[in-house]
Amino acid sequence: MSSALIALEAQVRADLTKTAHPDVPWLKSTPGPDAKPALDVLVVGAGQSGVAIAFGLMRSQVTNIAVLDRAEQGQEGPWLSYARMHTLRSPKHYTGPDLDIPSLTYQSWHEARFGHEHWQTLGLIPRKLWAEYLLWFRRVIGLTVRNGCELLEIAPAEGGLLAATVKSVDVVETIYARKIVLATGQEAVGDWTIPEPLRHLSAAVVARTSDPIDFEALRGKKVVVIGAGATAFDNAATALEAGAADVHLFCRRSEIQVIQPYRWLTFRGFLRHFADLDDVWRWRFMRAVLEMREGFPQATYDRCANFANFHLHEGWPVEAAQELVNGAELQTPHGSFVADFVICGTGTQIDFSERSELRNFAGNIATWANRYQPPQDERSDRLGRYPYLADDYAFTERVPGQTPWISDVHLFAFASTMSFGPSGSSINAMTTAVPKLVHGITRGLFRADIERYWDSFNAYDEPQAIVARQPKITG
Ligand SMILES: Cc1cc2nc3c(=O)[nH]c(=O)nc-3n(C[C@H](O)[C@H](O)[C@H](O)COP(=O)(O)OP(=O)(O)OC[C@H]3O[C@@H](n4cnc5c(N)ncnc54)[C@H](O)[C@@H]3O)c2cc1C
Repeated sequence: MSSALIALEAQVRADLTKTAHPDVPWLKSTPGPDAKPALDVLVVGAGQSGVAIAFGLMRSQVTNIAVLDRAEQGQEGPWLSYARMHTLRSPKHYTGPDLDIPSLTYQSWHEARFGHEHWQTLGLIPRKLWAEYLLWFRRVIGLTVRNGCELLEIAPAEGGLLAATVKSVDVVETIYARKIVLATGQEAVGDWTIPEPLRHLSAAVVARTSDPIDFEALRGKKVVVIGAGATAFDNAATALEAGAADVHLFCRRSEIQVIQPYRWLTFRGFLRHFADLDDVWRWRFMRAVLEMREGFPQATYDRCANFANFHLHEGWPVEAAQELVNGAELQTPHGSFVADFVICGTGTQIDFSERSELRNFAGNIATWANRYQPPQDERSDRLGRYPYLADDYAFTERVPGQTPWISDVHLFAFASTMSFGPSGSSINAMTTAVPKLVHGITRGLFRADIERYWDSFNAYDEPQAIVARQPKITG
């Protein structure tokens, strides 16, 4: 390790010590049905969100926690698998998991690795370095992750606890916890989509951007990418760079979206207080943002536009599709189009039934459609399916009393967006969203134990000073 990195790690330790107040342990062990102490919080997912949440909890003296991820170490999140951009899309100065500790920022790590000059001239953060930084981050804060461990199911357990069924290799076990945080990524409560007209096509001719795609096999082929967000462009560029003969990007709208609404909303007022707004305003804003969808950065567009064999088709929705011997024929309002391979960059959709972790309560998760009826001109069935979360990111019940225990299951993912604005969905919001979640969790833990704190207060008899009393004068 370089001397700069050694010095940075020493700085991190010093910063964490200097800002640790109040560092008194405050949670008492809760025995589980197996007589072992239950966890205070189980965090599922060790992507940037899960790691930052664990860090926030540890700084709040909630240390009886576990973080697990089904991916192997270093493979968490999209960064080294289906993220096909060279650099992050967010500006390099956006801070994230560091939760405002300067020595833990990406910039500090980058400067320690490559020098201050290098940071100054850097345009955007290289994707692979971001993944490396996340691994460094969790090591330096002292966080252990249980990798290769998948959450299968959540159920209520005795004593107000939750029972998480998890699987590592072939061993299935139950972990008891007071609370569970699902930091399980973009598809946490649904899945990546293939547009309806293409769903019957076989995997030989269609893939989603989240799938492992053999781009080498697309050399010399005619490829269609459906969708016009940054991820769609990244996949188009990857196909072009792999030697595809032609890449055609089909944008459903008449004009491609070049405004990035997430840039507008990246200010403290919105990020910190959006969730305090009433349903009318929350729906109005997030419907507008999520209907616009995300814009793409210039570098993403240029990566495609540099190729003469890249073709952008605006106003080209796919209305029907037919599988051919070696490809697919797509019907559009402009006629039919034959491609060798189709990649769908059409994002995720909410569908609680897609996820086994939710199976015991999927039918009772309250959605926005259950809780709020927007005016006619603001309706959206798609967004009505988003979960309607409590102010601590917990699921709420559609029918009260059927699954009351879901008030201890917290969702920190893209699907939290309708209730909270950006949160697990992007780096720009982490420094405000993670503390909000952590405060919600500590509030719940504190309130649940309030009688014990009252007893503890009444039993408290440690004198702060020794007072030498004068003998009482009598008479
Ligand atoms: C291709 C792509 C590029 C992006 N680029 C940017 C960008 O440049 N800037 C930006 O701000 N945002 C970007 N985002 C958005 C966001 O920052 C990322 O999605 C980021 O990965 C979110 O972090 P996360 O920790 O919430 O989820 P993830 O990083 O997806 O981590 C979730 C983890 O949960 C684990 N998991 C899921 N289910 C289970 C289970 N049942 N049991 C155990 N483990 C489970 C997964 O293995 C995964 O490691 C991008 C997103 C994508 C998809």
